[in-house]
Amino acid sequence: PWKVAAAVVVPPYAAKFSIFAAISQQETVPYTNRAHRVLLTSSEECEFGDENFNYWKTKNGKDILGPSDPRTVLVRRIASDIIHGVRRLFPNNSVHDDDVKQGKMVVRPQTGHLNDLNWEVIVVDDDQVKAFSSMGGKIVIHTGYLKHLKTDAEIATVIGHEAAHVVARNSMELLRSIPFYELMPFSRRAELEADHIGLMIMAAAGFDPRVAPEFRKKIEEIIGDTKLMDYIGTHPSFETRSRMLSQKEVMEEALELYKQERMRREKCQSVSSLWWNVLGYRSC
Ligand SMILES: [Zn+2]
Repeated sequence: PWKVAAAVVVPPYAAKFSIFAAISQQETVPYTNRAHRVLLTSSEECEFGDENFNYWKTKNGKDILGPSDPRTVLVRRIASDIIHGVRRLFPNNSVHDDDVKQGKMVVRPQTGHLNDLNWEVIVVDDDQVKAFSSMGGKIVIHTGYLKHLKTDAEIATVIGHEAAHVVARNSMELLRSIPFYELMPFSRRAELEADHIGLMIMAAAGFDPRVAPEFRKKIEEIIGDTKLMDYIGTHPSFETRSRMLSQKEVMEEALELYKQERMRREKCQSVSSLWWNVLGYRSC
């Protein structure tokens, strides 16, 4: 779905992007270490993402749930933890646009684009089993999907996956002209990539990563019922997704992040830490 969101806005910007295409930079995606080309600097991505999303909101305004709707409150509470997870996992030590322009040695992988994002998380009142993200840190989930998600960790699996697309800058890759025959393989690979990065994000945000493989199996039943052929064509099989998430070394790494975050939180809730907070010294 995020590729649809990106495609919708391409035509008005075609000229702009053909220029960007000529000066695109190669970057490396965290965790998968896949090299890809990105068309926009982080500030351009942020600006374009805001413009694009504001346009989308004016088109879909009537279906967007308000900030006080309990479903928005729930999703935003979990998304807030997820965004903290992203910041913890990818601290502000990455490459700056200026360094890239000056041809300086770059640190890999690159997540510098995360520094300036205006994260926005929105719930849409609609029956489709759908969630998507777009550039600039925008995440949308439909109530049709939400009603199948029974726990915070399941919601975190979905939000973490969408945040991972933002981390991997997947939507920007679709602004290049990818040949038709490469679209589906590209999409399936991007989905697995977002599953992998999303698992680490949810764990770093304090949600049990062991929920994710089970969740993919559960969603198979839901999506299977709806017979969304497009979904099936552009996404890897649920078995593949669940297997990738269950790999020993992947899950062990995620569990270590989860353990660290739980320990950090316990420490934050200790009596001495609470006293420091009361005295105005934020220790967490
Ligand atoms: Zn996805």
